[in-house]
Amino acid sequence: MTDTINLPMLAEIEPMLVGEKRLEGSEFIPVLNPATEQVLTRIGRAGTAEVDAAVRAAAQAHADGRWRKLPPERRRDLLVRLAELVAAAAEDLAVLETLDNGKPIERARGDIALGLDAIRYFAGAPVRAAGQVAANAPDRHAYTMRQPIGVAALVLPWNFPFMIAAWKLAPALAAGCTVVIKPAEQTPLTALRLAELCLAAGIPPGVVNVVTGDGGTGAELVRHPLVRKVSFTGSTEVGREVMAAAAARIVPVTLELGGKSPDIVFADADLDRMLPMLSRTIFGHSGQMCTAGSRLLLHRSIRDEVLERLVPIVESLKIGPGLAGGVTIGPLVSADQRARVQSYLDLAEGTVLTGGTALPGPGYFVPPTVLTGLSPDARCAREEIFGPVLTVFDFDTDEQALAMANDTEYGLAAGVWTTDLGRAHRMAAELEAGTVWINTYNEFNSALPFGGIKQSGFGRELGDAAVEGFTVVKSVTVAW
Ligand code: NAD
Repeated sequence: MTDTINLPMLAEIEPMLVGEKRLEGSEFIPVLNPATEQVLTRIGRAGTAEVDAAVRAAAQAHADGRWRKLPPERRRDLLVRLAELVAAAAEDLAVLETLDNGKPIERARGDIALGLDAIRYFAGAPVRAAGQVAANAPDRHAYTMRQPIGVAALVLPWNFPFMIAAWKLAPALAAGCTVVIKPAEQTPLTALRLAELCLAAGIPPGVVNVVTGDGGTGAELVRHPLVRKVSFTGSTEVGREVMAAAAARIVPVTLELGGKSPDIVFADADLDRMLPMLSRTIFGHSGQMCTAGSRLLLHRSIRDEVLERLVPIVESLKIGPGLAGGVTIGPLVSADQRARVQSYLDLAEGTVLTGGTALPGPGYFVPPTVLTGLSPDARCAREEIFGPVLTVFDFDTDEQALAMANDTEYGLAAGVWTTDLGRAHRMAAELEAGTVWINTYNEFNSALPFGGIKQSGFGRELGDAAVEGFTVVKSVTVAW
């Protein structure tokens, strides 16, 4: 561990935030450091009573207008203040994220920076909010206004705990909503800190509430009658349940779900640029990324060269605790996740070029693994493994590459490596994915909407679309 890192103080029980009150709850879940398997702290498992208290606090804050009725400039200033506090706490947040999730500290710093960028970006949204004036008769004035939808339930995954909290919270607040956040039970710590920073910034109590707990807590939250919008990031399986619960009450949902993204390398690709990027495409965050380019599609003419160069690169990636510094492959988030990834490797599908077996503990480490020779129907070829496992395929023609890329139930992201501009644009148009990266991968921009199609979900984070997702359009006609 580098000596410049200060470890944060954690309470024995990290409390939830309901209005201004800190609640510990009555049943507890241990929060583990995935690099050591040691208990960092515990969180309460919110039940019906705690979820109800949090939603009612948010509903009261919405009803009395303590947030939505503030002048837009004031809401902007409070979000700017929040960004300043997050910037000041960035290193502490990154250390906390690494302790909680396991990811390398450099990756955690990058995540905090992306979350911070989103808060800064959305701070400007309240003053840009505008409706439209419709053409109408001379004795009529007809216009639209966008209004906050009400209490939003923000349900978070464990792979990007802070970044996704910020990606959801900032546009929700910019829209004028009040929120109840439900972080993943494995990684609740940075969302709890973010909520504290909201209070410290001067965002009125009750506007941002956090309940901790597992899937049961999430289910209680999304079916609460006062919740008016659900923004969920997580697995496709749970996304379906969330959508069904929301359907029962006709509540709109944004679903950011899983992926099995193709990364296509054409014969004319700049391999010197592409190969070092692989640590970001698939192996960063130990493959626990919804956008992971987990299917590498190689033009047959360069397949052997790519694999010859790729394997030594993969084998040189440093595996270790995220706080050690210089690590690419940290532990997976939990024993369950390691068992899940190992269960895919145990299928013994295809040929293992490197990696293939979880490492002995302590810590939930799985080495970066490359599989070739898989049938297109193999489970490892089709299902989201959510670990450091790259599957490799080859193709002969552009049409074949496109068909293989789109032959998945998912549609979150895709990568294209080519120096042919026409081919790049053709692929961007034809790939079934919410995001396409050309000659890069996993790059995010707060102004660019992010989300999926097909089983990867619908609705968008980031960009103007994210704020719209937390609003309703009202049409007004005035006669005289
Ligand atoms: P998960 O679906 O197991 O859990 C996500 C969250 O939902 C957690 O907070 C969990 O407690 C809660 N939850 C569980 N059951 C629930 C229920 N019935 N009702 C309401 N909430 C419930 O997902 P995970 O394992 O934390 O995250 C990994 C998944 O998230 C992967 O599939 C990954 O692809 C996906 N993901 C998608 C994106 C994206 O933007 N598309 C981003 C990150 C992660």
